[in-house]
Amino acid sequence: MIKFGPSGLCAQFSEQGYKHTIQAGAWLKKLGLDCFEYSFGRGVQIKADTAKEIGKEFADCGIEISVHAPYFINLATIEEEKAQNNHRYIFDSLAALRAFGGKRCVFHPGSPLKSTREDAMQLLLKRFEKVLELKNEYGYSDLLLCPETMGKKAQLGNLEEVIEMCKLGDETIVPCIDFGHLNSRECGLYNSKDDYKKTIDRLIDTLGESKVDRMHVHFSKIQYTSNGELRHLTFDDNIYGPDYEPLLEVFKEYKLNPYIVCESAGTQTRDALAMKTYYMSLNK
Ligand SMILES: [Zn+2]
Repeated sequence: MIKFGPSGLCAQFSEQGYKHTIQAGAWLKKLGLDCFEYSFGRGVQIKADTAKEIGKEFADCGIEISVHAPYFINLATIEEEKAQNNHRYIFDSLAALRAFGGKRCVFHPGSPLKSTREDAMQLLLKRFEKVLELKNEYGYSDLLLCPETMGKKAQLGNLEEVIEMCKLGDETIVPCIDFGHLNSRECGLYNSKDDYKKTIDRLIDTLGESKVDRMHVHFSKIQYTSNGELRHLTFDDNIYGPDYEPLLEVFKEYKLNPYIVCESAGTQTRDALAMKTYYMSLNK
């Protein structure tokens, strides 16, 4: 089933007097949402017991938890020590994900440093193969690992690069398509249903319908410059976009069931709900 939810706790949550993540399960359920992304952007710092408690409470409320691995990951690094650190960031995230009882981990592929984009991509694919090997060895073969499309032109993670990464892995390696990021790096890619269809058709042609049906989606409106992403906005923006309505119409038409995480700046819960409400209205 298609799922909608926010990334992290929003301003509204604390304004209503809530303090701890564990309280967010019941809160999101009451609002009618389905999932929640826990960000380890600045490092994996949660204790296993705390993650288990949160996971149990969220499961009781029917809210599925995904995690976002640390932003420091760079699979294109030329330094072996940093490559080892990548493993720690990824496998600490998967350990926490396991404790939460979740299934999905998103990560940023990396950036070319001191090399051409092509060389950096070759190195990244080699390093990613190692990650995939260890993922099975460490007992995480059932968890989904989702390389994300990135918003800055200089970063690895355009649509084709993420497709390349997903082709390397089995059915658990599914793309995280951040439509706000793709819209930013292409300086306004999505204006109509057909624009979204081009991306989704390309994904289906290259990765197959089963991976696309279960793909991870990040959605927010994002301000950009000629270099790509500048900052996340809220759904109140009507300059940069993209609009979510045509995308949800495509998901409906194609009968796809992605896991959709809203990353609006501070209004991510309200905006996730706006997306779900619109999607549900398409049934009528
Ligand atoms: Zn991300």
